[in-house]
Amino acid sequence: MFPAMNVVFFSSRNYDRQFFEQANERLGHRLHFLDVPLNESTASLAKGYDAVCVFVNDAVHAATIWVLADVGVRLIALRCAGYNNVDLAAAAEAGIKIVRVPAYSPYSVAEHTLALILTLNRKTHRAFNRVREGNFALDGLMGFDLHGLTVGLIGLGKIGLITAGILKGFGCRLLGHDIQRTEEWDRIGIESVSLDELYSQSDIISLHCPLTPQTYHLINKDSLSQMKRGVMLINTSRGALIDAKAVIKALKSGRIGYLGLDVYEEEADLFFEDLSERVIQDDVFTRLLSFPNVLITGHQAFFTRNALQNIADVTLHNITDFEKQVALVNEVK
Ligand code: NAD
Repeated sequence: MFPAMNVVFFSSRNYDRQFFEQANERLGHRLHFLDVPLNESTASLAKGYDAVCVFVNDAVHAATIWVLADVGVRLIALRCAGYNNVDLAAAAEAGIKIVRVPAYSPYSVAEHTLALILTLNRKTHRAFNRVREGNFALDGLMGFDLHGLTVGLIGLGKIGLITAGILKGFGCRLLGHDIQRTEEWDRIGIESVSLDELYSQSDIISLHCPLTPQTYHLINKDSLSQMKRGVMLINTSRGALIDAKAVIKALKSGRIGYLGLDVYEEEADLFFEDLSERVIQDDVFTRLLSFPNVLITGHQAFFTRNALQNIADVTLHNITDFEKQVALVNEVK
């Protein structure tokens, strides 16, 4: 019998505690939940713990990793898929292993992508408020048929492919761009195109690639200038795929006709908190909020009960595997 692991959670919320405590019932790890984010100044709170469990906006930079190593942490368990917030080289140097949850419910994010597309198009958020006030006028609510439109998907991994399959059901023509192509593309009917072709031909563009040095500000002044006038742009992937200032200019000029975001480059200072009583200091974000054709959700695409259950199960299995010193199938190197 192996000793249970002591795990401290950063940036945790009530729903994390609920799902993790339930998933841990038969495993018996000792879980401690903190709501503060992990960074250089909070890392010492991990003293006495074997592992830290972190989320998308915890800044796991080199300085943080060195404090974690100093206080005896041996494992960083990401309760998410993306790992762009972790300095992998520093972790390797410090002898700290990194594990993640590569797939917990790609359906959750793909379906949220459709929620953004359909809300922006059919303006159901505005219709909901109007009808409640007894206003049944249709002016301003006109949408368009998705059937027959061309949708460009950048990144066709787990989420991108499911999004493609759903959009195929709507009768859309699908263009795809990825650094690798799989047999699934033919099965779904995705045409492989260059980025230039995707930008110039798509009525809707949706981002599903990871944030890497190659994809940082992929959507910028130059790529926007190649897009159709009135294009719908959707980003449920990572905020920094988009240069938000260039996007604001494109919204003002009408180049972008609809913008749906679940992620934002500077979201770490905003998302997952109730800031409704405070003045938001981020002028780029507040400018984005001011457009009638922009819909922003606060990184909630993953947030289904199915996903939370899987995140808790896989994260705790990753921790158990580390404790048992067996191969870490979800290790990030
Ligand atoms: P995945 O690894 O299965 O797929 C990513 C795809 O992007 C791969 O096919 C890869 O080849 C491709 N890719 C990599 N670099 C590329 C490039 N330069 N240009 C084009 N394509 C490139 O990942 P996934 O599970 O489909 O997740 C996609 C992204 O969604 C994640 O990276 C993460 O940032 C984001 N995500 C967001 C949420 C949310 O709640 N909003 C939740 C989960 C994941």
